[in-house]
Amino acid sequence: MDNNLEQHQKPKKMEVIVLPYHGQGHVNTMLQFAKRLAWKSNGLIHITLLITSHNMNKLSISGTKMDEFISTEIIYDNTHDTQLDFMTQMKNFETQATHNLTRIFSSSATPSLLVYDANLPWALDIAKKYGIMTAAFFTQAGAYVASFYPMFLEEYKDDVDHPVIAAANQNRLDNLSVKMLTMEELIRGITPIPDSGTGNKLFPPFIRMLLSHMKNIHLADWVLFNSFDHLEDEVFRWMSNIWPVKTIGPTIPSAYLDKRVEYDIDYGFNQYKVNNESFMNWLNAQQVASVVYVSFGSAARLSIKQIVEIAEALKQIPNKFLWIVRETEQNKLPNGFIGETSDKGLVLSWCPQLDVLAHEAIGCFITHCGWNSTIEALSFGVPMLTMSQFLDQIVDAQYVDQVWGVGIKPKEKENSLVTQDEIKQCLEKIMNGQRAGKIKENAKKWKALAIEAVDAGGSSDKNIDEIIGRLASL
Ligand code: UDP
Repeated sequence: MDNNLEQHQKPKKMEVIVLPYHGQGHVNTMLQFAKRLAWKSNGLIHITLLITSHNMNKLSISGTKMDEFISTEIIYDNTHDTQLDFMTQMKNFETQATHNLTRIFSSSATPSLLVYDANLPWALDIAKKYGIMTAAFFTQAGAYVASFYPMFLEEYKDDVDHPVIAAANQNRLDNLSVKMLTMEELIRGITPIPDSGTGNKLFPPFIRMLLSHMKNIHLADWVLFNSFDHLEDEVFRWMSNIWPVKTIGPTIPSAYLDKRVEYDIDYGFNQYKVNNESFMNWLNAQQVASVVYVSFGSAARLSIKQIVEIAEALKQIPNKFLWIVRETEQNKLPNGFIGETSDKGLVLSWCPQLDVLAHEAIGCFITHCGWNSTIEALSFGVPMLTMSQFLDQIVDAQYVDQVWGVGIKPKEKENSLVTQDEIKQCLEKIMNGQRAGKIKENAKKWKALAIEAVDAGGSSDKNIDEIIGRLASL
């Protein structure tokens, strides 16, 4: 246990409420932060994780040591959500969760802090009514969130009393040396997300919803990122001018990084089941840095054309491969592909990705650049071939190639298609070509810095100490 609270004379028990949005990468990340916060508090912090009914049986906390300091409660019953469009689901979530949060906040044991997913800005307003401290939690990279800033200024330019809008001239994003994506690039990345068709201002309704999430963030006591200072130092230095930013990541289980939190050995949350327990024997039999791992995360749906291009490339490369194709996507594979390639590759519907990325046999990760996959690969020193699909993935891919130098962003054809030839050429460059040495060197550097950030005295470690210190002093 950490001893950072020894200086406080009368330690008191504190209750922290954690409210994630229900996607895989949101629950994972916020649960991980909850575990570390409780561990670093020396048992003074108890966490209540608020979760949807669907996700409840996908958690594996009960029966583990974490039972002692993390309780779970259903905040939203999403049994019937599959029949509803996204905007209606979000509205229903807000209505039911507002009712439940109000009940929790007005109970006799008032929490010290609400950590809420930055996608759920109404949670901050409720906490403020009860005088409860708040931490907005972004499960995306700082660079992606910063890319929205110019659009935020445009959308709310008439709101001259808003402190962030009023101070906009002093906080110009174009002062950064890092190239941000343009509005057009970001909007193009967002188009595939369906929206309900309401609103007709400058931006599409889905963008306007994302921009509205930023409107009250300056009122939060902290704005947390699953990132670390070194990784995006310039972005966070700039962002600190507008929000009280703190980096607390990578939120990868301690067993894979600093190894200090003895029971933190996995995420404890899986939306899908692993369907082949013996695949690790196959991986163990492969040569160091020889296997290409391919995964597009928990939500991206690729076109049949794109899946065929990947399949052809994997057939032709000299390397073996491990390809995660979710059950609902498997009918897009070319006929007979699994049988034809069984001597050089495996297709699974889900895997324990941390164990795969941490394995010495993996030489390259073809990834959609979801933020979790990206920061996991960075933390394990795995080079990436980026095949981003939408939203933050597009910014992450640019950073992987241009800023962190740990991979290559392939050229895209019409409809963002990456051809089999382009995939093969990029894989060759990453694994054997001229850039391979530099990419490996950078990957090694970021891996060391990721561990340093969460280890004792690292930037994320100190930031969590500061949060606990402030809560304890209330
Ligand atoms: N993941 C996993 N097994 C798989 C594929 C993905 O455990 O077969 C995990 C991965 O480690 C990551 C998360 O699922 O933590 C995916 O999050 P990410 O942000 O990369 O993408 P999203 O699913 O949100 O698009």
